[in-house]
Amino acid sequence: MSLPPLVEPAESLSVDEVRRYSRHLIIPDVGMDGQKRLKNAKVLCVGAGGLGSPALMYLAAAGVGTLGIVEFDTVDESNLQRQIIHGQSDIGRPKAESAAASIREINPYVNVVIHDTALDRENVFEIFGQYDLIVDGTDNFATRYLVNDAAVLLGKPYVWGSIYRFDGQASVFWAEHGPCYRCLYPEPPPPGMVPSCAEGGVLGVLCASIGSIQVNEAIKLLAGIGEPLVGSLMVYDALEMTYRKIRVRKDPSCVLCGENPSVTELLEDYEDFCGAVSVEAQNAVVDATITARELKEWQDADKDFLLVDVREPAEYEIVSIPGSVLIPKGEILSGEALSKLPQDKQIVLHCKSGVRSAEALAALKAAGFKDAVHVQGGVLAWVKTVDPSLPSY
Ligand SMILES: [Zn+2]
Repeated sequence: MSLPPLVEPAESLSVDEVRRYSRHLIIPDVGMDGQKRLKNAKVLCVGAGGLGSPALMYLAAAGVGTLGIVEFDTVDESNLQRQIIHGQSDIGRPKAESAAASIREINPYVNVVIHDTALDRENVFEIFGQYDLIVDGTDNFATRYLVNDAAVLLGKPYVWGSIYRFDGQASVFWAEHGPCYRCLYPEPPPPGMVPSCAEGGVLGVLCASIGSIQVNEAIKLLAGIGEPLVGSLMVYDALEMTYRKIRVRKDPSCVLCGENPSVTELLEDYEDFCGAVSVEAQNAVVDATITARELKEWQDADKDFLLVDVREPAEYEIVSIPGSVLIPKGEILSGEALSKLPQDKQIVLHCKSGVRSAEALAALKAAGFKDAVHVQGGVLAWVKTVDPSLPSY
């Protein structure tokens, strides 16, 4: 299915612009008309992280006239393995500012608009309303559903991408012409089921593979060329080096874009909808949470307890709290590890940030370990408040 161009052409290109974009201009399908449309286009990138980095750089180089960036985070050393729009000297700097500086260096003809804020139900319509197309580079489900719902309610197309370890996916969601994200994924995954890249890792170059597909689709939509990924899901496996295109149909019973929609405005709370931690975990941590400082005090006082790290072996190798033993969360949830745990000692669980340990705590308490506790903020809190000489990740 080909679609008409999303954007009207700008009046003209300057002599400098003609020189700059000459390799586009001599492609018959793009030509002067297509390049003028890119010049007139306003594209918003949600996030200037793994996917946002390559996406923003190629959108800028391609000559998209106005580029918006929604990002409130600052550049961290652990970003630089994949977020190539930022550099060493940007560490600690707001990502939006750092990304804007790189864009201006790539192409001074781009008008960069910074939205230094977290996207939420209060600001999303006002921000999205200023753009023709949205590129979604978010890394969490709450923002993903917010982006989808706002785009559908406003009738805007958006290019979606997702990455994890060696696997990537991309699609174009545009309810007027095809399915939306909710048609594909009606429900968010149960909390704790799908690890984030911060928990599971991501191959840096995967960001470029998926980010470049997103830019490719954005350019096609803006200029009205080719067959956009509307109604198709691209699934990429970097280890097998395969691309598979899967047909995705619009769901007539979709709560948002179906025939009788029940979601007709934004949800009250997307974090709540996606549930950062399960109800069981939320209940388990009440009166069973200690801080990293308290853990240190317990250790210094030779209190008798077993410190269990529920992360994965690769994470344990990067950094671990002295005295901890490694039992990955999966072994606790499956029940496999329960026999390894002492009945006569208090168990203290921890993970990276406190989410996985809360889930494991719920399982332990259900198995009868009534006095078990977990460490709020996990290894990250330990590094921050007890031993800053250890690496964060
Ligand atoms: Zn839908």
